[in-house]
Amino acid sequence: MDWTRRDFVKLSSAGLLAAALPAPALHGLGSGPRMREARGLDELRRGVGTFSGRGGTIGWLVNVDGCVVVDSQFPDTAQECLEALESRAALPADVLINTHHHGDHTAGNGVFRSAVREIVAHSRVPELQREAAREAGTEEDQTYAESTFEESWSVEVGDETVRASHYGPAHTGGDCTVHFERANVVHMGDLVFNRLYPFIDRPGGASIRGWIELLEEVARIHDDDTIYIFGHGHPDFGVTGTQDDLLFHRDFLTVALEFAQAAVRDGRTQEDVRRLEEMPGFPDHAAPAPQLTLARVLEAAFEEALEEG
Ligand SMILES: [Zn+2]
Repeated sequence: MDWTRRDFVKLSSAGLLAAALPAPALHGLGSGPRMREARGLDELRRGVGTFSGRGGTIGWLVNVDGCVVVDSQFPDTAQECLEALESRAALPADVLINTHHHGDHTAGNGVFRSAVREIVAHSRVPELQREAAREAGTEEDQTYAESTFEESWSVEVGDETVRASHYGPAHTGGDCTVHFERANVVHMGDLVFNRLYPFIDRPGGASIRGWIELLEEVARIHDDDTIYIFGHGHPDFGVTGTQDDLLFHRDFLTVALEFAQAAVRDGRTQEDVRRLEEMPGFPDHAAPAPQLTLARVLEAAFEEALEEG
């Protein structure tokens, strides 16, 4: 069976992706003395933190001059996050940034709509979100970013600079990272599935090759002290981490693509490639949902390898 966008839309709108990820907040940098309840606001550094809830990890900044939110999960958890932020910040917030169009990162946009001045995303996000909603029959539930950018967008909020950057096709055709510059925290959206088999949205413009290069570049331009926020994380590894986690994800994608390229060269079929049960060197990787397996990753890698020729 082909892995289509329709499958993923069903998956992400049903919340299955999130449901399969138990309490990730308990396992990240938020553990130990910094740990708060699983659904609270976990501060990382300098007014920047995470909210786990259900779906793609929400990032936030609160300082005396304003508030920024990154991604919006689903309506129910968006409401919880908003209430938690209201107790700390003067709303409306300056901006909600969507790291990409998938439902587990944008379905809560409507809840934030009146609580933020602006919703911002890469220029391809509204179009990809509209297409996915059309296929899923959920067009009426969508709230879209009204401000878009091609390569980079930034805003000053008090003494913090928040910069969104697009590096080309990777997890989708419209991903961005969000850098809180003085806090030195980078929200990666779904550009890192920490020790999980990632979704590779080829119909939505994904490129494994581009994704590998992006992770290299992001690791290169930031430093050893940068804290990264991940869209999804294995419960034992968490939704925050370091450059090593970025490069580990790069290595996983590299091995998957090379495995598929070798298979294409050897004249093996996609079915052959799908049979691999565990990627050598990556024993901790898990499926975040029944549909997000190593076989799916290898299918996508095989298709990309065929295209590359
Ligand atoms: Zn995604």
